[in-house]
Amino acid sequence: TYNFSSGPAVLPRDVLLQVQQELTDWHGSGMSVMEMSHRGPEFTQIITEAEADLRAVLAIPANYKVLFLQGGAHFQFGMIPLNLTQPGDTVDYVNTGSWSKTAIKEAQRYANVNIVASSEDRNFSYVPDEAGWQRSANAKYLHYCSNETIGGVEFPFIPQSDVPLICDMSSNILSQPLDVSRYGLIYAGAQKNIGPSGMTIAIIREDLIGHARAEVPTMLNYKTHADASSLYNTPPSFAIYVAGLVFKWLQKNGGLDAMARHNATKAALVYDAIDGSGGFYRAPVSGACRSRMNVPFWLKDAALDAEFLQGAEAAGLVQLKGHRSVGGMRASIYNAMPLEGVQALVAYMADFARRHG
Ligand code: PLP
Repeated sequence: TYNFSSGPAVLPRDVLLQVQQELTDWHGSGMSVMEMSHRGPEFTQIITEAEADLRAVLAIPANYKVLFLQGGAHFQFGMIPLNLTQPGDTVDYVNTGSWSKTAIKEAQRYANVNIVASSEDRNFSYVPDEAGWQRSANAKYLHYCSNETIGGVEFPFIPQSDVPLICDMSSNILSQPLDVSRYGLIYAGAQKNIGPSGMTIAIIREDLIGHARAEVPTMLNYKTHADASSLYNTPPSFAIYVAGLVFKWLQKNGGLDAMARHNATKAALVYDAIDGSGGFYRAPVSGACRSRMNVPFWLKDAALDAEFLQGAEAAGLVQLKGHRSVGGMRASIYNAMPLEGVQALVAYMADFARRHG
């Protein structure tokens, strides 16, 4: 079976097999990782290695903290303004889709949000040209979502910013090399390219820690987690363990340069299948901002959707149904999706089009 879910999404098979092997007895400890004290020597080794491996994979500079948090990316939507603004402050947001909008709505509860640019006029099918962004003079930070999981729009560039740049990278982190030093804060829910849901990773420049509003709950203060090396309370230990295995899998498979090539190859196959279908399939997004991770597409006749999905499932291609707000199909092809999965998908698409064209 090839699983095209947008998240929780497919994990590397080697990682799952290792988890299975170690499930009841981690490295001769006689314990499952699920059963270990988060302050014991075994888990200390697991979390220390996970952080070190992520730092190595992403080349994270020393002046950034890596935090393993809970609450999903949604918690970050609120934590960011609560930690980086005081009442009355202004913040800049780019609006390129559903996830940008959700982040904006939450930030509006705490700060004056200036939308520097929006692609809502064309149904979130592009990234607005940076030259036209209306920045505020006094923003505390600039926020954007590097890959809109639902709309399938990915930034082909890192925005220029004099104020701390903050990015929701939930659905394309670790998919290609990244210059972390361009950012003040990067955050990502784990359930696409990192590991099991229930964990969020934040990579935050040290000078941005320690400015939370006085009334912010202890658990929502970045300083709490930075000071305690992500062990202030019981962390999502099993998720951290699996993520650590994924980081080792990335290193073993050539790191982010290799991932970038692997992902570009897969995305090109799907987009070529769509563009070359003579109009049988259509993609809502065109050009350089087509996502390499999430490929939404429509059939020329929506009446065929159910049959397409049914046939796909019978062929072992599952979770292809598009998000309800976009309709049609969506193929999510994260790091762990093998090339063979994408080849099977495009073969099915061609065959289906032949039979119904
Ligand atoms: N941001 C992006 C880009 C997403 O794809 C998602 C969905 O998984 C979220 C935020 C919300 O993440 P969570 O469900 O972890 O809060």
